[in-house]
Amino acid sequence: MIFRLFLLSLFVAQLALSPASFAQRIIPDDDQQLLYEIYKELVEYKTTGSEQNNTIAVEGMAAWLQAAGFPAQDIFIGGALPHKGNLVARLRGTGEKEPIILMAHIDVVEAEREDWNMDPFILNEDEDYYYGRGTLDDKAMSAIFLANLIRYKRDGVQPNRDVVVALTSDEEGGGSNGIYWLLDNQPGLIRGALAINEGGYGLLQDGEPLAVSVQVAEKIFASFRVTARNPGGHSSLPREDNAIYDLAEALLRIRDFKFPVQINDVMRVSFQRQAEINSGQRAIDLRALLESPIPQEALDRLSQEAAINAQLRTTAVATLLEGGHASNALPQSAQAIVNVRMLPGSDPQDVLRTLTEVVANPELEVEYLGGGRLSDASPLTEEVLGAIESVTNAKWPGLTVLPTMSTGATDGAKMRNAGIPTYGVSGLFVDRNDMRIHGQDERLLKTSLYDSFDFLYRLGVELASD
Ligand SMILES: [Zn+2]
Repeated sequence: MIFRLFLLSLFVAQLALSPASFAQRIIPDDDQQLLYEIYKELVEYKTTGSEQNNTIAVEGMAAWLQAAGFPAQDIFIGGALPHKGNLVARLRGTGEKEPIILMAHIDVVEAEREDWNMDPFILNEDEDYYYGRGTLDDKAMSAIFLANLIRYKRDGVQPNRDVVVALTSDEEGGGSNGIYWLLDNQPGLIRGALAINEGGYGLLQDGEPLAVSVQVAEKIFASFRVTARNPGGHSSLPREDNAIYDLAEALLRIRDFKFPVQINDVMRVSFQRQAEINSGQRAIDLRALLESPIPQEALDRLSQEAAINAQLRTTAVATLLEGGHASNALPQSAQAIVNVRMLPGSDPQDVLRTLTEVVANPELEVEYLGGGRLSDASPLTEEVLGAIESVTNAKWPGLTVLPTMSTGATDGAKMRNAGIPTYGVSGLFVDRNDMRIHGQDERLLKTSLYDSFDFLYRLGVELASD
């Protein structure tokens, strides 16, 4: 998961300070120790794309479940390749409702010892932080879901639905994505009414939490190619028709074009709440987004902020360029890739028609090259949003729950595409000025790990026992 932290940090660029502060921890020491041991073990498995030990890691995780008395038939390990194992574990409920899926990926992006100030595959710590590749993305949630499953069983929680933990491989790339594999090969195992996933981190400013974000939608990646062709000729005899100029003109038209603003239900709630945690003109403008029609001035100001603009509309931008074949020849062809991030529910064929109109030159060819899986936003149901709000309020009184739409991709899109509403929420908080996901010395606040442990425990109970 890559882009959404950046986005959320811009959402709250000028906020009114939140009065909430971290509540006292109420987790027994022994349970903290349980989580710590699982987390440390998981961080120390080198589950990068270049290593072969994802299966070793999920087998290690399964051993914790076996020791806690989970029967063999409720623990599944399998995957696309022998070393790309995924673990699916089940705590049986009454079956009154469809299962809830708690999903996290155990693979991590590469990390080189020489790039870090420590060994990235040893769980290091100082007074405040745990350090290591995956400490945040996504081994914290992986370890928490597993430890909480063990606690639910031990505590005699009686869920009205199965609670399923899915720890998967290759979310970060690598070609054997565990969620794809499970949906295609073991759909019964991860069938559920809803799923909780990564993608919703809270942000801290000066140690204070600003909002608990819930990722409920993702924009969809799509690539298009614009090609200009021309018979060409000798560069000493230039003519007005020219593949490079034709393409350049088309790209400038795309630059100047703005897709229409569409505010879906998710973003309506999100903008309303962003307005609440912002102040001044920005708060007024954000509130104006809920009016119909939206006042143009507010729209113009907000559209200048890349992060807000990307929430308002589908965007298109030229990202690659190629053209000509010799410095002394008129170009016979020129082409550009235009990368589009579509709002949920969009159809790439509609975007293709729009781009063709915008280019406004029948001599140019515009093609759809492909893109991410289409997915709609997960519905903001009272069942889910209400549960997240009540757990948030119990833990951090007064803190805003902020639905978000991310511009990057997680496995959530695959689940939504398969008809399983998926919500990115973790209760993990990161410093908005110091985010290290995929970077050097990745780390997580110790207090946040244990707070999230408690938050997700309560959320699981809330969602599986009403
Ligand atoms: Zn991730």
